[in-house]
Amino acid sequence: MRTDILGVGFDNVTTKEAAGLAMEMISQRERAYVVTPNPEIIWMCRKDPRLREAIGGAALVLPDGVGVTLGARILGRPLRSRAPGVDFFAELVANLAPARGRIFLLGARPGVAEEAARNLSVQYPGIAVVGTRDGYFDDDREVIRIINEAAPDLLAVCLGSPRQELWMAQNAPLLDVPLSAGLGGTLDVISGRVRRAPVLWQKLGIEWLYRLIREPRRLRRIVKLPAYLFAVSLSALRGTRK
Ligand code: UDP
Repeated sequence: MRTDILGVGFDNVTTKEAAGLAMEMISQRERAYVVTPNPEIIWMCRKDPRLREAIGGAALVLPDGVGVTLGARILGRPLRSRAPGVDFFAELVANLAPARGRIFLLGARPGVAEEAARNLSVQYPGIAVVGTRDGYFDDDREVIRIINEAAPDLLAVCLGSPRQELWMAQNAPLLDVPLSAGLGGTLDVISGRVRRAPVLWQKLGIEWLYRLIREPRRLRRIVKLPAYLFAVSLSALRGTRK
């Protein structure tokens, strides 16, 4: 059973377990998809039933960020750990590389996926990046055709939220791909264009602060966090009164 946070159900798995489950899904070739919602996406789901449905239809729903694990703790049903999309992806690629797994990188600005592909090939010898495509396209059918021709085992969908979740829910049946994963800004990080917070900041759960300092435009997104935590606290209070 999933852990519910304001109507969004999360799988209570560590990053390693999630990568193991994803490997099983790839071998079962079920055209499944994985999502990694953060509090901002949980918040969006309140007003967007299509997004909620898209997330509910995922084979794995991973808690991306400290806001999700904090929310779960406030609700009295703690999740075992965070499983940020970028860590999940790295773990999964590390699992796929010895098996000469095939991946397709979709998303980010032109040139970024190619840079990420070069870095992945150096870091994970054995991995085959069988295609890349930037995330600024209108013709879904053409992109799906290119992906299907490349025949990857894993499709990284890095189009930002809610576009990537809606895109996967709509197109997973048309994609001849065992597993797709919505991974936000992962390609920006792997390409080296965006620096991740130092490990200490990650461990302290303040990676969001690091990103905010480097990209102040994120403030617009982060201001929703107090409202989210307030709604979670209300929901926890209601739960204890029942
Ligand atoms: N993006 C894209 N197509 C779009 C909108 C966004 O490919 O139509 C990309 C954008 O270039 C960036 C990623 O989606 O690489 C979103 O990154 P962000 O850091 O906002 O995602 P987060 O990890 O915070 O969800």
